[in-house]
Amino acid sequence: MHEVSIMMSIIDTALDVAKQNDAQKITKITVEIGEKAGVVKDALEFAFETVTKETIATQANFEIITIPFKGQCISCDHIFTGDNYLVCDKCGNLGKMITGNELRIKSIEVDECV
Ligand SMILES: [Zn+2]
Repeated sequence: MHEVSIMMSIIDTALDVAKQNDAQKITKITVEIGEKAGVVKDALEFAFETVTKETIATQANFEIITIPFKGQCISCDHIFTGDNYLVCDKCGNLGKMITGNELRIKSIEVDECV
């Protein structure tokens, strides 16, 4: 379950940010995850519970924003969406992924009061 290691690095970053800001508590963490990033949302939420235990992020809200897939054809530049994400629905050539592979922290909210 690689969601746990993903979550650990997210929390590491969040704790660093909190420290730099002298925060006593992390109140919210928002991440953006592409729908083709290969991350299971439920597993990530479960990992969040586990990884934040006994940290200042334990009561934080965790929000996942899903970024929809978008592909662009390498031969005709047509932009397409959909499940068959490597094939252009216009000319049938191969496409490349423009969005949908994201895995990043969008925002971290902290509370400076105890
Ligand atoms: Zn095409």
